[in-house]
Amino acid sequence: MEIGIIGAGVAGMAAAIRLASRGHSVTVFEADALPGGKLSEIATGGYRFDAGPSLFTMPQYIEELFEVAGVDMAPIFQYEKLPVVCNYFWEDGGRLTAWADTARFMLEIEQKLHVPGSVLKKALFDSKRKYFATGRIFLEKSLHRLDTWLSADVAKALVQIPVLDLFTTMNRVNERILQHPKLVQLFNRYATYNGSNPYKAPGLLTIIPHFEYGFGAWLPKGGMISITKALYELASLKGVEFRLNTPVDEILVQDRRAVGVRVGEKPFYFDRVISNMDVFFTYKKLLPGQKEPKRVLRQQKSSSALIFYWGIRGSFPELDVHNIFFSDDYRTEFEILEYGSIFSDPTVYINLTSRYCPEDAPEGCENWFTMINAPFNNGQDWDDLIAKARVNILAKLTRILGTDIEPLIECETILDPRGIEQRTFSHLGALYGTSSNDRMAAFFRHANFSKDISGLYFCGGSVHPGGGIPLALLSGKIVDGMI
Ligand SMILES: Cc1cc2nc3c(=O)[nH]c(=O)nc-3n(C[C@H](O)[C@H](O)[C@H](O)COP(=O)(O)OP(=O)(O)OC[C@H]3O[C@@H](n4cnc5c(N)ncnc54)[C@H](O)[C@@H]3O)c2cc1C
Repeated sequence: MEIGIIGAGVAGMAAAIRLASRGHSVTVFEADALPGGKLSEIATGGYRFDAGPSLFTMPQYIEELFEVAGVDMAPIFQYEKLPVVCNYFWEDGGRLTAWADTARFMLEIEQKLHVPGSVLKKALFDSKRKYFATGRIFLEKSLHRLDTWLSADVAKALVQIPVLDLFTTMNRVNERILQHPKLVQLFNRYATYNGSNPYKAPGLLTIIPHFEYGFGAWLPKGGMISITKALYELASLKGVEFRLNTPVDEILVQDRRAVGVRVGEKPFYFDRVISNMDVFFTYKKLLPGQKEPKRVLRQQKSSSALIFYWGIRGSFPELDVHNIFFSDDYRTEFEILEYGSIFSDPTVYINLTSRYCPEDAPEGCENWFTMINAPFNNGQDWDDLIAKARVNILAKLTRILGTDIEPLIECETILDPRGIEQRTFSHLGALYGTSSNDRMAAFFRHANFSKDISGLYFCGGSVHPGGGIPLALLSGKIVDGMI
């Protein structure tokens, strides 16, 4: 078959690799000059930064693509497991290292928080149990097909309903299990992995820590951009044709069947069309006059981010690849986000790859990807919000690290929700498509196929199973399975 894919995000490339490996002829249209979508990089002043995602989990989904393609991964893509998942810092001087090794992490919380290690073990077991009860249904299958609901996996999950925490919030589950406020805050943070609010998101989302502690946090050699490069190379090896700098203007539909795409005045005809473009804009821009799934498109968006890419002259041995400086009032931080603004005491995330990839910063310097949660773009006065946030972030880091940070900044690039929307056509700059604050959110996400237009499929973070690299890769797998 001839298949056309709109967008060379990780999901579009994953679908392309799978379909080309089955012998289909695949063409990917990408609006940008480079593939990768949100997974891009910034190089400035001798520093290199991964522009979007910084945390790499579930590497098995990348490995699987090489297996499917029958290509040896080692020469193209390498990655290593991080011994430290994340370093945590609080305003009261509290510090905690989340070790990948559970026994070491247990010891850490016993020594620093005086909490029995068994508490942590229980939380991780609870997360693992939820993952094995529901992961295959919610992540690996379409929720919009009858065969999913008639499968043995659903029967297995039904038996587990009492322990899935479907009718409570993530925060309540964490309070019940973890006891210590700092541990509760640490585990509440996992709601942000899909842009949600832990005080509203369903308890089932306590499944997320298993991604990090069960499967590990990893760093690709050369940084996150290596994922983009590897998928692009693999797809090209399988004969996928990439048309870069080629924005699609319309999906051609005849007799309720997708028959191709239009770029400018030029039509390209295909047997199947897959959109990796944000589903909102796929309907609004590429399918004029077609029926829209209004309820799906009205879903609340996930949060966005404000990022300062700082080249820092100096070295901070207390920082690892992932570092969090917590807000003193986490609940208020999320409430203010929902009002569309940014709290004066935001939780600050710093990612620095130069610790493991020295070529990412000049000698004696570090590349700080400094990010806070931000609301999706609602036309706020971003210049004002950014200026205030910058002051508050610098003050917080200076207080906690005990060093005046601003004079150390050698170069600065800023990305805000407007920029995220402009660069990748993500509706309102949301990082993860729709929010998961509602218990039913998983069911309201757009399906991986169109119910009204045959031959039209959807992959990527704005559709099922959701945002984040692992889920986006899985959406490509689901679409491949359907085709
Ligand atoms: C700042 C930030 C931090 C993040 N952190 C993490 C993290 O740590 N870990 C993690 O797993 N995930 C993270 N994410 C989320 C992750 O990046 C995304 O979920 C994932 O990359 C989405 O991939 P995608 O395939 O859906 O599409 P996208 O990356 O959105 O790509 C879509 C592509 O389609 C192209 N396109 C759009 N319209 C057209 C058109 N009309 N014609 C042709 N091409 C078009 C765009 O140019 C783009 O290249 C983060 C995201 C951001 C922005």
